[in-house]
Amino acid sequence: MPTRPTIAAIATPPGRGGIGIVRVSGADLRGLIEAIAGRVLEPRVATHLRFRDAAGAVVDDGIAIHFPAPHSYTGEDVVEWQGHGGPAVMRLVLARCLELGATIAEPGEFTKRAFLNGKLDLAQAESVADLIEASTATAVRAAARSLAGEFSREVHALRDGLVELRAFVEATLDFPDEDVEFLRQGEVVAKLDALRDRLTSITSRARRGAALRSGLTVVLVGPPNVGKSSLLNRLVGEEAAIVTPIPGTTRDAIERPLEIAGLPLTVVDTAGLRETTDTVEALGIERARIAIARADVAVVLSDAREVDVHGAKSIGAGAASASDRSEAELPATLPRIRVRNKCDLAGVAPRATREPDGTAVIWLCALTGAGVPLLEAELRQTAGVGETTEDVFLARARHLAALDEAASHVDEAFRLAAAARPAIELLAEELRGAQDALASITGEFTADDLLGQIFARFCIGK
Ligand code: GDP
Repeated sequence: MPTRPTIAAIATPPGRGGIGIVRVSGADLRGLIEAIAGRVLEPRVATHLRFRDAAGAVVDDGIAIHFPAPHSYTGEDVVEWQGHGGPAVMRLVLARCLELGATIAEPGEFTKRAFLNGKLDLAQAESVADLIEASTATAVRAAARSLAGEFSREVHALRDGLVELRAFVEATLDFPDEDVEFLRQGEVVAKLDALRDRLTSITSRARRGAALRSGLTVVLVGPPNVGKSSLLNRLVGEEAAIVTPIPGTTRDAIERPLEIAGLPLTVVDTAGLRETTDTVEALGIERARIAIARADVAVVLSDAREVDVHGAKSIGAGAASASDRSEAELPATLPRIRVRNKCDLAGVAPRATREPDGTAVIWLCALTGAGVPLLEAELRQTAGVGETTEDVFLARARHLAALDEAASHVDEAFRLAAAARPAIELLAEELRGAQDALASITGEFTADDLLGQIFARFCIGK
């Protein structure tokens, strides 16, 4: 293994804090440690001492820990200087490490070394960044599961099944006359079917995790005064948007990040898409159009009193209602949920129904919150996260693509194996394709540029 240069970085975030940490990793840090600490450190023991500069002057007073290779995060010699969390003092400690031969670590370089030294596989290394970036408790739990190796174990188990099957199929090639019988006895079709089921289940867990990771941008549209701001406040649980009985008071698109049982949502309340001569409001409307263009789903509000219980218009029958007009402005491909608000005034109970074309219709009361959980459940469905998030893997697009590729190879293998005269060589080839796709998730063979892309998105010092 080539010796990599010693790297150092401030591992704590910029700014002032109680503690700041400079982390160093390299092949042999004994010289660097003695120069700063003035002594040898007992392995993995927190030692209180003074950090000194080249002239012997005290730079900081803190804790130092030496993790000798290979029992460290990176698998190399690692030392942590835990000092006072001020930007100037941290820079001095870092500068001292650089003086002693270290170079500044690139983003994610510590974790990249951990991967290259076999401390983590690639999916686990990615989950380190996901854990740091997680914005909800659910995302934290999902990333922690991947970091603990749960996702990798599932992928490995699947790959092992494929390897076994492939070895069996390749052995068949030595007995070309009896191949069909061989495959039958080996229950190859049944085993492939079982592998396919398992792959489907892992993919579903990964897909729901990916949905959780990206969240959902929801735009609230509807005519003025229909209750958009009230609904947003209900979803956010605070006074995010100004609620007033005067039409046109929501003058700007207001974005709020929120969470529905672990699903991150960005809800955009719009100024409403009505014609106006007021320039300020016109600006708001322009922003609403921009918000709509990047939304995943529109929640279209109308007044429940405009629609009777059977769905026929009871007010202004014959003419398109204001809600219909604002819905007509939406891109045809944008999925939507119709909300009939002010249920209380219409005298109907909150409930969820569907239009004949499958569009969900939620009857609710934004004022009291009655029926809002029905809308939340529908949003979770739309996001594809399902009802529970306890078993999801916080997968990335790269993982989903690899799982899909493995699935198409397994499907093809299944088709070949089930044929009256199986083409054994092609079958073996498909199994190998599936195996390689799965191996790319955990990074058994990975191109350097992919590694570069993955680790460049980490923070410095991780
Ligand atoms: P927006 O213009 O669409 O944002 O509408 P607002 O949220 O500002 O609501 C307009 C008015 O309708 C306010 O006075 C709200 O209190 C009232 N309102 C909103 N939702 C309901 C509801 O479900 N029931 C009743 N009775 N009033 C509501």
